[in-house]
Amino acid sequence: MSELLREKINVTKPFMPPIKIYKSYIEEIYNNLWLTNQGPLLKELEANICSMLGLQNFHYVTNGTIALQLALRALDISDCEVITTPFTYVATISSILWEKCKPVFVDIEPDNFTIDVNKIERKITTKTRAIMPVHIYGYACDINSIQKLADKYSLKVIYDAAHCFGTFLDGKSLLNYGDISTCSFHATKLFHTIEGGACIVKDKSISDKLELIKRFGHNGDNHICLGINGKQSEFNAAMGLSNLPFLESIIKKRKHISDLYDEALLKYLYRPRKQKGLDYNYAYYPVLFKSENELLRVLDHLNNNNIYPRRYFYPSLNKLSYLEDYQECPISEDISSRIVCLPLYSELKDDDATRIVKLIKEVL
Ligand SMILES: *Cc1c(COP(=O)(O)O)cnc(C)c1O
Repeated sequence: MSELLREKINVTKPFMPPIKIYKSYIEEIYNNLWLTNQGPLLKELEANICSMLGLQNFHYVTNGTIALQLALRALDISDCEVITTPFTYVATISSILWEKCKPVFVDIEPDNFTIDVNKIERKITTKTRAIMPVHIYGYACDINSIQKLADKYSLKVIYDAAHCFGTFLDGKSLLNYGDISTCSFHATKLFHTIEGGACIVKDKSISDKLELIKRFGHNGDNHICLGINGKQSEFNAAMGLSNLPFLESIIKKRKHISDLYDEALLKYLYRPRKQKGLDYNYAYYPVLFKSENELLRVLDHLNNNNIYPRRYFYPSLNKLSYLEDYQECPISEDISSRIVCLPLYSELKDDDATRIVKLIKEVL
């Protein structure tokens, strides 16, 4: 096939359910005229996700960023320091800043790019109130060590689990840890509801508080506390209900492509180490090059062939220009300069994956 006729390949392509399924939910909305505010489709989606993943105190909200901010608010984390990782998407850090807290960066593990628990303790001060680690790419943080530190210093733990829908650790959903875990259902994520997110809360009373603040902090005419609008619409819930039954097959197809990449590339490129007991969801396919120069040459070659991987996650966020100070994180800065996520989505054809591998090898 001529290169010109080939479709552009991006790092991801949103999964679209058969339109018939989506339409039938939309017709339901037209019939009962309940568009938002904890409607029947939202309730159904929450219940289905909870039973599928073994979750409780699950709040489906407008997006994964509001989920993080609601989590900080529900746990009363404000005017303090929050320990986090610089190797993540900007929403992790911006939500901390938005809530007027200071992100204190701890460098990452060189083998799976999650927060390095051995470096957390020395960053704890009298102002520290919470740890916000990220299960980056869906790889699990060292949950037990983080919880031990949190217990020792009475800190809250909020996991940004935006990449973890469908990932299990020792048979338990990775959304089940910390005081609160948050998830994102944005169109680019493995399971999506166009826009959307969730908070999964350990403690029932915190869960009740989050339920209140996500809808303006009032019950009818009784105004109880400061709140915000984190409610999700029935149209988004409809997309979620349409996509959810395909979760297993989506993960299976992504595994197939990942295995194909592995077979061809593992000899040449470093891949994050999977934690023991992790049942992975294949949310991303990150590969680490030897140098930024090598990565840029590969990207250039792929772009010339109409293939657009993404530099997830770049830059290392301790280098954000609007932070009040620069906190050194040499490992994260190094990794983020030479890592890229290859195209991975359920509709990606074997032929295209093979072609991508061939193009990468041409540069190496
Ligand atoms: C996508 C993402 C978010 C934000 O989710 P939205 O639904 O886009 O607001 C937060 N954290 C991480 C790590 C993400 O990848």
